[in-house]
Order: sequence, then structure tokens, then C-alpha cells
Amino acid sequence: MLKQQTDVLIIGAGPSGCVAASYLHNNNIKVKVVEKSKFPRFVIGESLIPRVMDHFEEAGLLESLKAMNFEKKFGARFIRGEEICEFDFSEKFGEGWDWTWQVPRADFDNTLAKEVVNKGIDLEFESEVLDVVFNEDGSSITTVKNKEGDINEIHARFIIDSSGYGRVLPRILKLDAPSSIPENSSLFSHVKDVNRPEGREGVLISFDILETKVWLWVIPFSNGNTSIGVVGPTSFINSLGGSNAEALKEVINRSDFYRDRFKDVDFLFEPHKIENYSCSVTKLCGPGFTLTGNSSEFLDPVFSSGVCFATESGMLSAKLFLKELQGEKVDWDKEYTEYMKYGVNVFATYVKEWYTGNLQTLFFHRPENSDVKKKICAVLAGYVWDKENSFVKKHAHVIKNMAYMIEMGKTMDQESYDN
Ligand code: FAD
Repeated sequence: MLKQQTDVLIIGAGPSGCVAASYLHNNNIKVKVVEKSKFPRFVIGESLIPRVMDHFEEAGLLESLKAMNFEKKFGARFIRGEEICEFDFSEKFGEGWDWTWQVPRADFDNTLAKEVVNKGIDLEFESEVLDVVFNEDGSSITTVKNKEGDINEIHARFIIDSSGYGRVLPRILKLDAPSSIPENSSLFSHVKDVNRPEGREGVLISFDILETKVWLWVIPFSNGNTSIGVVGPTSFINSLGGSNAEALKEVINRSDFYRDRFKDVDFLFEPHKIENYSCSVTKLCGPGFTLTGNSSEFLDPVFSSGVCFATESGMLSAKLFLKELQGEKVDWDKEYTEYMKYGVNVFATYVKEWYTGNLQTLFFHRPENSDVKKKICAVLAGYVWDKENSFVKKHAHVIKNMAYMIEMGKTMDQESYDN
């Protein structure tokens, strides 16, 4: 058995793990990353939001991503029958990036991981964490099985668990908790987008609302393929008949906007189905570890917040551990848990109000209120810690109250018309 020593062990080489690893390495901290899969590997989560660009830039990973010519994403379009609501990130409230990418994650994550390796970071693919034991001082011994089947030990001062749905530490430490988001499921695949229209329409990322709680995503990639997926209550997804391919085709057929474009195209792989994906944990950190990205909490795909929270929490974990190593006191509950929970709670409100229909009422209300739109746009761009934005600060009430006023206005208009 090989015994290795490192300052920080990072479990998982997704965006969360790569951002944390790169930042720590750039600050001369000894890091080891263990990744269960062989890359490139498929993972869902293809629509990014601008806040991630801050993280990739600060981690020194942005230039390698730019070189890949992924499809640029400047906003998002929401469709409801004949109604359209488009957000343009350049018109958002406040500071921050006004573009990002829509990406096939196999290529995107592979680019990140390759850059991490190029920097000289010790990243071991096809190595699975089997167990972790913590010592009283927070240091730990992790048991890993490598691709030859050998069992080795990694001794670390700190662990950043970025294992996504592997949820390594939540499983071992029994930290799983139910999500506050209603139970939703999804079916998705990629197609060769042979009927893609020329110009902007062909590459526009869109969310087509088929029913208040059921929506279709269309995410065109620069390689000519497009990701299509449906999200809805688990009972709805499971009520669709036939194979996953038949079920997804049936849903695409319900879309007036996209039916013709995807009528005769074949899926590049049998659609995947993920049921009840929302998850949470009882705590985000403890002595000697943090949980980041999907290993901690995942809400819902609707506003593409997954990768953003993954990189935000990966980056913050790295920064706080560095601060501690430099001899400064870190209040993990305040500086990590409270901070992350604030942003997650803002997004959780938007997700919940999407499925109640209140947010859709705001999106499709005409005439548009440009101040409201700018502020919601900043939230959709991932700037959910900006308390100058009243749609961040008052998230708990503002959407519900505005939707109520809009609906009341409609009722009063109708009554005065009837009388
Ligand atoms: P991951 O990217 O999942 O990486 C975790 C890594 O850990 C994996 O490579 C895995 O192999 C490795 N690992 C697991 N177990 C072990 C182990 N025991 N030992 C070693 N390594 C291990 N997010 C968005 O931002 N935009 C979207 O459009 C979007 N759409 C989504 C649609 C659906 C239907 C779902 C379910 C999710 C979606 N997400 C989306 C969320 C997104 O998939 C995740 O939030 C994101 O991938 C999390 O990144 P991560 O780095 O935490 O984990």
C-alpha cells in the first residue's frame, strides 16, 4: 500500500474540483486530485451563467477555455406559446460578466482537467475514493482504489469534496438532507442539429414552457450538435410512455416552436433519465473538510445555477483554507456556510417561484418594466450576492408580491371591461 501526503485532497475533477485545485496550486499549496472516471466523461449541466467566468479567470483557467471556441451565450430566451421573454446579460443591473458559454461538458471538463494537469497538479484519473477517516485535528486518511485495483492511502490536512453526485463525504458522514425544491426529474440527449437555422436563431439557448411545471431546453453547441432535455414533476416524466427516446420525442412533439426543427433527427445516444435530482446536506463544512458543488446542494436546472455554485464554492473553499494556512482565523460557519447559503437561498426562491408560475407571470407581463428586468437579469447571470439589487435583497417577497399585483391588475381590468 502506497501512502501519500498532501496539504489538500480534492475529490472529483469537475468544474468545482478543478477551480479549487488550480487556485491552491497557483498559491503554492500542495494539492492532489483524485477522479473516479476516465476523461472525457459525459455529465449534464451545459448552460453556464456569467458569474462562472469570474471563477475561471481567478483560477487561471479562462484562457484554455477560450481557446476551445465553445458557443458563446449572451443571454437566455424563454418561450411560452406565442410569448417570448429574452434576457440579455449586457443589460443586467450592476457589475459583472455579460457573456459565458453553452458547452458539451465532456469537452469542457476535459479542457479544465487537462489544464490542471498542465500546471503540474497531481490529478489521478480512474481512482475512486472508498473511505475517509478524520483525526481529531481535522487531518484525514483517505482510502483510494486506483485503476490497477491497488488500494492506497492519502494523508491530507484538508479535504475539498467536489465529488458531485458521488457525494462521497455526505455518504460517509451521513450528511444527506432532503431538498426544499419539489421532486422533479429530467430526460435529455444530444442531436446532430441538421435543421439548425442560419444565424442567431440557430445558436440561441432557449427554454420552452410546455406547461407551468414542464419545460424543454434547447442548447446548441459550436460543434453542430444540440442538447435537448425536458424537466417536469417526476410523476409527469414517469407518465411518458415507451423508451426514453420515445418519451423525449413525444415531449419535443408538444413544442410548437421546436417540433419541425427536431422532427426527423436521431438522438446521438439513448436519452438519460435522472429522477428526483434535487439534494441537500445538513452541513456544508466541518473540521478538515468542505463540501462543494453538487456534493453539497443541487436545486434544479431551470436557471443553470449548478456549475456556478460548484465553482463559487470550490473557489471559496480554496481561498479560506489558504487564509487559514497563512495563520489567519477563519470563521467557517460565517465565511463559508452563511455566504454559500445566502446565494443558494436566493436562487431557491427563483426556482420555487418559477414552478408556482409567479416568476413566469413577471417574465411575460407586458409592457416590460425595464428596471425589474435588469435586476432579474443580474440574478440569472449568477450575481446573487449583490445586496444593492432589490431582487436579491428582497427575494423572499418581491416576486410573489409583484406577480400578485399583476394578476390583481388583470382582474380589475377585466371587471371594468365587464361593467
Ligand atoms: P461534477 O461535474 O459532477 O464532477 C464530480 C466528479 O467527481 C465527477 O467527475 C465524478 O466522476 C467524480 N467522483 C464521484 N465520486 C467519486 C469518488 N468516489 N472518487 C473520486 N471521484 C469521484 N448546471 C448548470 O450549471 N447548467 C445546466 O444547464 C445544468 N443542467 C442540469 C440538468 C440536469 C437534468 C441536472 C440533473 C443537472 C444540471 N446541472 C446544470 C447541474 C450540474 O450538472 C452540476 O451542478 C455540476 O456538474 C456540478 O459540478 P461539480 O464539479 O460539483 O460535479
